[in-house]
Amino acid sequence: MKGIRNIVVLTGAGISAESGIATFRGPGGLWEGHRVEDVCTPEALAADAELVHRFYDVRRAALATVVPNAAHDALARLDAEWPGELLIVTQNVDDLHERAAAKRMLHMHGELRSALCAACGSREAWSGDLPPGSACGACGAGALRPDIVFFGEMPYEMERIEAALARCDLFVSIGTSGAVYPAAGFVQTARHYGAETLELNLDPSAGSVFFAESRMGAAGVLVPDWVAEVLGWDGSTFRPGRS
Ligand code: NAD
Ligand code: ZN
Repeated sequence: MKGIRNIVVLTGAGISAESGIATFRGPGGLWEGHRVEDVCTPEALAADAELVHRFYDVRRAALATVVPNAAHDALARLDAEWPGELLIVTQNVDDLHERAAAKRMLHMHGELRSALCAACGSREAWSGDLPPGSACGACGAGALRPDIVFFGEMPYEMERIEAALARCDLFVSIGTSGAVYPAAGFVQTARHYGAETLELNLDPSAGSVFFAESRMGAAGVLVPDWVAEVLGWDGSTFRPGRS
């Protein structure tokens, strides 16, 4: 059996929960008091741009009040010290992975601190509020919108993610409900290519059955423990889930 060299880590809203950012499906199935379909679809943006822009303005402003937690810090340490390949794929739109100094990571569902031009497709860094009609720095159209991948839109960097999944020896999912596709299907892709699979989540997720091993608990505890374990392997002998 092969050792572990290439790792893909998928993170979701649960990794940022201990930093004080609400997860997607809080009490009553609402995201910060809103139905997901009212703030996270192209139809919602077309119907009420003021509401959708304001929703993400509040989320963007709230980033200034939170800091990375022990789980983000541990993944940044893994990134700095792991000698093999690593790709951290986050579904999160916050910037806590990069503020913890993770480098080998990407945002598949967009970023609060970015604006997307609906006219020309260019993306630009954004801080502060983003009122509807804001002008694109590239083409000048008053067409900037939050750079968030809405339901029904194509996530970013799928080719790069698929390639990393096909090459990985270990796929780890952290703090995600396993309800949002295509991310929810990554575990099965990784398994298909022969990877070991591990889930770290507060409670069993919709996808738990697909993982060889699931550890339940808070990310702020589980992730630092797991990273310490990984950085202690000699790389050629590790057998996750086996003695
Ligand atoms: P989700 O809210 O659907 O699921 C969160 C999961 O995290 C749940 O399974 C929950 O049990 C678990 N969890 C909660 N607290 C935890 C903790 N302390 N430690 C470990 N696990 C914990 O989130 P999702 O699966 O990421 O899907 C939601 C979508 O919502 C994403 O696409 C994302 O873009 C968006 N979103 C992002 C943020 C953010 O950027 N921080 C916040 C809310 C929603
Ligand atoms: Zn433009």
